[in-house]
Amino acid sequence: MALTQLVSTALLMSSLLGATFNSNMPDRSIDSHLFVVNKEYRLSENYSPNITTISAYNVKREIREDLFAPLENLIQVAKQDGVDLHLVSGYRSFAKQNKVFSSKAGKVGEAKAAEVVAIPGASEHQLGLAVDVSYDNWMGINQNLENTKQGKWVRTQGYAHGFVVRYLREYEDVTGYSYEPWHIRYVGDTHSQKILELGEPPLEHYVSQIRKETYEKLSKERPRWDYPVPLSQILSLYNEEPSKKQKFKNTLKIDALLVEESVWQAFGDLQADAQEQGISLELEKSQKNPYPTHLKLANSKTDAEAYLKDNAYVFGFVLEDGYYRYLGLPIAKHLYDNKIAYADFQAEWKLAYNSFLQNGGCVSSAILQENSPKTKSK
Ligand code: ZN
Repeated sequence: MALTQLVSTALLMSSLLGATFNSNMPDRSIDSHLFVVNKEYRLSENYSPNITTISAYNVKREIREDLFAPLENLIQVAKQDGVDLHLVSGYRSFAKQNKVFSSKAGKVGEAKAAEVVAIPGASEHQLGLAVDVSYDNWMGINQNLENTKQGKWVRTQGYAHGFVVRYLREYEDVTGYSYEPWHIRYVGDTHSQKILELGEPPLEHYVSQIRKETYEKLSKERPRWDYPVPLSQILSLYNEEPSKKQKFKNTLKIDALLVEESVWQAFGDLQADAQEQGISLELEKSQKNPYPTHLKLANSKTDAEAYLKDNAYVFGFVLEDGYYRYLGLPIAKHLYDNKIAYADFQAEWKLAYNSFLQNGGCVSSAILQENSPKTKSK
């Protein structure tokens, strides 16, 4: 069925988006009170929250468990102000929404039905954090509610208690819904008060702003991890302690050093380039190097260090724990251009790699054999 395909595509899209957003983002969890549900970002047919019932003015309604306390409080505070908030509807399952939608679609077609009935998965009522309020348990769901004391009270007082009027007239094009003065959504009082201060932007805009701020903050603290370096090249870095025998087949013995041939060549080029600028680079050859890719300067000279700072990467080297470590030009250049320390790169890369695997990614055995000695050893 076309609709089911649409829904699963939307879910796939949102899970892909989820992978690129940091998990520290406040709205990424469905348990978060900021979780956005709309026609674009829909709930799965499998999503049903833990439900409890609340009763107000002799009628029981189902809501998500964590909505009980704030909603009970809202009803009591309104009552003290002389306002009886009746609950016309609370939680609605995907199946129930689907039934309503299908029945409408059977009569007028899916496109027309979508104009008047929420598409299954696109309703905040399935999330369990929204209720429709009115002056009567069964009536009053129309735009005239804004002129009643119930409508006025939720619009002016709801924000102090964690609720927002979700679908405002001026944001119909953003929310995808017509003005609904009766539909209130719980977001928690910290956020509802901020939303009020900001002039009642729709949840979509508010969450985007928080994401942007969070992302900017994180990107200042930590480097980005979408490195423009081929996976096969990065994979070779994943092993902290490569087996020298297996990984480095073409090693040379230079005094106490064991050096990979290609690394030795790259160092030779670096040395020659430095020499042209009157700088002599001498290696510490009396002590064993930890890996055949790691070289240490014999004595740190200020001019040599200054030269290496801006030139070592050109020959594929980065400084790591006092050693010039050969990574090859693409990665070394990337780190230099973006001012990323190797340790940060390594940590971020591991995160990215684990997330890649956890999200169903796999690595071809050819790449593993080429780059990961650990999987070869038996
Ligand atoms: Zn509603």
